[in-house]
Amino acid sequence: MTTPTNKTLDLNEYPKPPFEEQSQDVPGLASKMVPVPDHGETSYRGTGRLTGRKALITGGDSGIGRAVAIAYAREGADVAINYLPAEESDAAEVIKLIQAEGRKAIAIPGDIRSEEFCQKLVKDAVEQLGGLDILVNNAGRQQFNESIRTLSTEDFDATFKTNVYAMFWITKAAVDYLPRGASIINTSSVQAFKPSEILLDYAQTKACIVAFTKSLAQQLGEEGIRVNAVAPGPFWTPLQTSGGQPQEKIKQFGASAPLGRPGQPAEIAPLYVTLASTESSYTSGQVWCTDGGTGTL
Ligand code: NAD
Ligand code: MG
Repeated sequence: MTTPTNKTLDLNEYPKPPFEEQSQDVPGLASKMVPVPDHGETSYRGTGRLTGRKALITGGDSGIGRAVAIAYAREGADVAINYLPAEESDAAEVIKLIQAEGRKAIAIPGDIRSEEFCQKLVKDAVEQLGGLDILVNNAGRQQFNESIRTLSTEDFDATFKTNVYAMFWITKAAVDYLPRGASIINTSSVQAFKPSEILLDYAQTKACIVAFTKSLAQQLGEEGIRVNAVAPGPFWTPLQTSGGQPQEKIKQFGASAPLGRPGQPAEIAPLYVTLASTESSYTSGQVWCTDGGTGTL
């Protein structure tokens, strides 16, 4: 007798390396990746865990942010997404998917390297959602650079503005709107703990996000606001294919993880759902890692 198999439990059904070379200018589009990432468009099933919640997600057009936006809408939340104007086509797909769930979908394009824009982003999200109780600081910049000798001040500054300053500006603007029970979730990375040689600036910003999360969790505890971070390992997103890694590494992306492949954005969205949900009411100041078996944390 053969053992029955359950297709949905088959870890090998997602794409594995080798992948095709596929360089894109930054910001890359999910729609142009080969294969297109799985953000849970056809698979994520909600169970009402975020009914009536109001979420702002930066970088919500593609990759991890898109998977979180889809999951949140299917869990019953209204969702505002921020992204760069050049990513309008990816964002339009996400807006349609949120609307298909009968939830409010708010698109707020703009560059979060400006403090003024960050303040406007929060104000617009609060006005259009009618409040805010989940903030996901997820947008990020990752451009590999081989040497401190070639890493320019402009690059270093752009990475810190996008990954660190914007998180500070957006959270600062949002905090007075957040009620008891609200949740802030920041996207860090395994790079905070095991920095790569070629990601000197990026890895530092991801370590900053861990410290910011743990410090702010202490500040906001008595207000009943939880602050956590997610630290992804290698995930198949346009961040990586548009200068995040050299093309030789894209071909073998995820190969060194024990599961032998990169994660798909759909596979990490459940962590963001759990952290946002009031079921996790005692979880704050934590960093949750999903890295395909490496065991970084
Ligand atoms: P992604 O390219 O799909 O998402 C990143 C998003 O950041 C873009 O869609 C873009 O909208 C946004 N962004 C970048 N610069 C911006 C700016 N100046 N203004 C406004 N928005 C801007 O890639 P992703 O991998 O899903 O990235 C999401 C987060 O996950 C990032 O913080 C990234 O550092 C983190 N992360 C990714 C991986 C991975 O392997 N993909 C691993 C660890 C951490
Ligand atoms: Mg994008």
